[in-house]
Amino acid sequence: MTSYNAANQPMIVTGGEGSWIVDSEGKRYLDAMSGLWCVNVGYGRKELAEAAYEQMLTLAYYPLTQSHLPAIRLAEKLNEWLEGEYVIYFSNSGSEANEAAFKIARQYQQQIGQSSRYKFISRYRAYHGSSMGSLSATGQAQRKYKYEPLSAGFLHVAPPDSYRRPAGQTVEQFNLQCAQAIEDTILWEGVESVAGVIMEPVITGGGVIVPDQIYLDRVQEICNKHGVLLIIDEVICGFGRSGRKFGHQNFGMKPDIVTMAKGLTSGYLPLSATAVRKDIYERFKAGDEYGHFRHINTFGGNPAACALALKNLEILERDALVERARVLGQRLEAGMKPLLEHPLVGDIRSFGFLLGVELVADKETKEPASLDTVKSIIGQCKARGLIIGKNGDTVAGFNNVLTFSPPLSSTDEDLAFILSTFAEVMNLRREGIPL
Ligand code: PMP
Repeated sequence: MTSYNAANQPMIVTGGEGSWIVDSEGKRYLDAMSGLWCVNVGYGRKELAEAAYEQMLTLAYYPLTQSHLPAIRLAEKLNEWLEGEYVIYFSNSGSEANEAAFKIARQYQQQIGQSSRYKFISRYRAYHGSSMGSLSATGQAQRKYKYEPLSAGFLHVAPPDSYRRPAGQTVEQFNLQCAQAIEDTILWEGVESVAGVIMEPVITGGGVIVPDQIYLDRVQEICNKHGVLLIIDEVICGFGRSGRKFGHQNFGMKPDIVTMAKGLTSGYLPLSATAVRKDIYERFKAGDEYGHFRHINTFGGNPAACALALKNLEILERDALVERARVLGQRLEAGMKPLLEHPLVGDIRSFGFLLGVELVADKETKEPASLDTVKSIIGQCKARGLIIGKNGDTVAGFNNVLTFSPPLSSTDEDLAFILSTFAEVMNLRREGIPL
């Protein structure tokens, strides 16, 4: 077996068009990892650049200590997409959107007389950002251990990783048990101390962990029952990736707070948002002479970024890319399923147009494939012009899930290229042919 490994070679990316990027040596790659930065409408959309440019000619900047039309219009549009009544707070990144959510949740709890509620519960393997609070909510040890102590009050429970459920348990039983761990944590910590639960509908960056419907139903019930706010992180699942506008809509969830970023502008400009249910926001502003939310963000809701986001949502609607994600996702999954026969492939999971292939060293014991194996497959795909990613948790030894998340605008030919290139790499590997 060759030890060729191009996975860690830095690339200088000089351009992009549709699902493809080009590097400084003129080599083209299909970016099947772009979904993790959420270039959902694909690269090279001039319309997006023009929308930002036009806005900059009119009003390049004003802080949202006052207001401006692009932010107002975008907030209205997001309410339409969220199918609810939310107050929108803009910032610049997913991490900041989650920080704002934590502060809003604590402020709300104080405002309704629950001033000792400050804790948050999230899941191991989930990623929620790199700033101190959002990193504290993150459940991937490798990102945290050099920076401890992190913020107090962030607790973690195991995710509903059904592939690794104990023998003898059904998926339903296991998912109920995982949801129960959240209620148990609330009860053991003391109901009066817990402000919120934060989760992605599907854990994306932690290995594409797709819960059973029953898990999310139960989580919703638990939060409602104990007065714990449900914060849904849509930073990756949002804006069509899941085959619905937002990931939680696939499960009929009613979040109290929704955070979003990357896909809001398809990654073209920094912009993120924290959407708070209007009735919650109304409650917490009462009684404070300054009202509202005591949180300043100089660049959040930048007019050019808002104008670009509006154009991005228009393109997603006009080109029916949310529906396209559903179709592409089904085809990607169907095309990948034969690889379940492969000795290295333990599980294949998908959610809309996001797919994870869990690599194992042994199908019986489910021992994760080594990092070298995972990296060499990624490198072999890259050498053939296909960029895919790996996800999981290095410290726990689960960095073994290959992730596929191409732009939602991918063509049929793009999809065929992804499937044939990956199958070629996996099949050559099965046959032990040097690559
Ligand atoms: N939440 C999730 C689910 C994410 O995937 C990310 C980024 N990968 C973040 C939050 C943080 O976003 P940002 O990098 O924009 O701070």
